[in-house]
Amino acid sequence: MGPLIADLRSDTVTRPTAAMREAMMRAPLGDDVLGDDPTVNALCEKVCELFGKEAAIFVPSGTMANQVALRALTEPGDEIVCHELSHIYQYEGGAPAALSGCSVAFAAGARGIFDARTMEACVRPIDDHDPVTKVVSIENTHNRGGGSVWPVEKIAEVSAAARARGLKMHLDGARIMNAVVASGVSAAAYARHFDTVTICFSKGLGAPVGSAVAGDAGTIRRAKRFRKMFGGAMRQSGVLAGAAIYALERHVERLAEDHAHARRFAEGIAGVRGVRVDLGNVETNIVYFEVDGDAGALCGRLDAQGVRLLALGPRTVRAVTHLDVDGESIDRAVRAIAVAIG
Ligand SMILES: *Cc1c(COP(=O)(O)O)cnc(C)c1O
Repeated sequence: MGPLIADLRSDTVTRPTAAMREAMMRAPLGDDVLGDDPTVNALCEKVCELFGKEAAIFVPSGTMANQVALRALTEPGDEIVCHELSHIYQYEGGAPAALSGCSVAFAAGARGIFDARTMEACVRPIDDHDPVTKVVSIENTHNRGGGSVWPVEKIAEVSAAARARGLKMHLDGARIMNAVVASGVSAAAYARHFDTVTICFSKGLGAPVGSAVAGDAGTIRRAKRFRKMFGGAMRQSGVLAGAAIYALERHVERLAEDHAHARRFAEGIAGVRGVRVDLGNVETNIVYFEVDGDAGALCGRLDAQGVRLLALGPRTVRAVTHLDVDGESIDRAVRAIAVAIG
């Protein structure tokens, strides 16, 4: 195998920069289960401010962030309305069923986005036969939707319709800062439409580990109890929270570079025969494209050339940009793809 040119499998592959590692080293620490870790407390305050919420907790992963939030908002036998391609349903090991005892109902829509009327059609009648519709979950940006950004007006509509029916709103904000940077809408302007919101520090923000959940004090108190139950209450986790604070301070605006690199990549491969990519769908740092041949075999050949991509279907390939790839490595990756296909 040749030297690595670009690892575009995911924005989770980044390693902490030297400056981030220094911030981790310097972070004052304590036992967060006892509430004494000053760095975790500082991070949670920062997250509350960012989203305009009362309370926040730090958790090991985006999956745990979503699942403690959903568990806090529901009881077994409840139902969660989400898009069929949502991460909470597709990629979290069946957790809504396993950990919360909830079923899911699918609201359909292009690129992971649905409207208020589609959501309302999923709401169950109050009847002993039916699960109780309890939460509507939205993902922004939407991963399987191609890194699509939910228009805030659309979120407002869905949220108003949900709340009129007494439903709770959850935001899977693993990549919420990508949405913020792409749209210019603030994190708080998105978050006001939700009861619980999550953010991942280990995706485009470049921290090694960690996510947070924010919401009102009562819901977060309940989420904290489930964090303990699910094994996610950590001790001197300020060593990780230090990286997350650094990421929020230094790595948010630079997400625009990742978006520009995704566009550059998409425009590059659009010119390669045997590749189909919809440039209009490239909104943030994720590019999905279709190939004529076998996607898995192509990714295998490219891997040997030092270009790493994920085959997510027989003909579907995904590339994700992040802070460890620059313009030059993007151009080299495009040339490698042209050669591997040709
Ligand atoms: C990555 C991701 C998560 C959480 O992933 P972890 O690997 O558990 O941190 C949640 N939602 C979305 C949309 C994601 O892309």
